[in-house]
Amino acid sequence: MLKFDPYYFQCPNCQAWLEGRNLKSELVNEAILYSDGKILYDNYITTRQKLVMCPSCAHAFWIENPAEPIITLQKPESYIYSWNTWRFYGISFSDNKGKMALINHYKTFLQKSHYEPSKEIYLRRLLWWAYNDLHRNHQHIRLKYFLNGFMSFGVWHCNRSLIIEGEKLFLKNQKDFTDNLQRLQALLEKHPEEQIDLEMPEIYRELRQFDKAKELLDQAGSRTHFTNEMIRHSKWKDPRVFMVSG
Ligand SMILES: [Zn+2]
Repeated sequence: MLKFDPYYFQCPNCQAWLEGRNLKSELVNEAILYSDGKILYDNYITTRQKLVMCPSCAHAFWIENPAEPIITLQKPESYIYSWNTWRFYGISFSDNKGKMALINHYKTFLQKSHYEPSKEIYLRRLLWWAYNDLHRNHQHIRLKYFLNGFMSFGVWHCNRSLIIEGEKLFLKNQKDFTDNLQRLQALLEKHPEEQIDLEMPEIYRELRQFDKAKELLDQAGSRTHFTNEMIRHSKWKDPRVFMVSG
């Protein structure tokens, strides 16, 4: 079964055709949710990539509104650049170099130009998630993840080394991580309509302002598994991103 619905769009500069993919909506419930709001399905991020760099001419452009005339569900006759050639700017994530390359792409985009608030929020949120990717599954370094039998010792050990190296890179870049998250926090406070559910308490928690995070969570109304987990991690004074469900 195909997991994604394809769509097609054209580079406004060189008119090359690119293939995009949307996750089939019935599969969203099978996805993994992380505390920072990132959702993964089969290791694919489900958030649509809005800033594209053309694989043919390197022109950067925004695809914001799916109803734009350059987007179609009809497969065009001409040559089509596949999803992998432009998704995440063609980066592979098999090692931490790829993860750092994505971080540098977002940083470069932010330095290059001044964006309207919704676009800056979009880029800073993705930069935040990209930093968190360096140590996203930190709990997997524990021996119990090998002992529960889901992975071979070789896979677990290799994955563990990758996460430990990622954690070191995260700590090395912590100032940039914090600067970006504080800027995102200020923008979201000014533009509450852009906030994702429980994003503000999570930002406070990751900025180590645990009391403020707990205060916002207490105000959130009905308790869910998500809010309970965030309160638990705030009480532990743990600022690291964690898996909520999956
Ligand atoms: Zn182009």
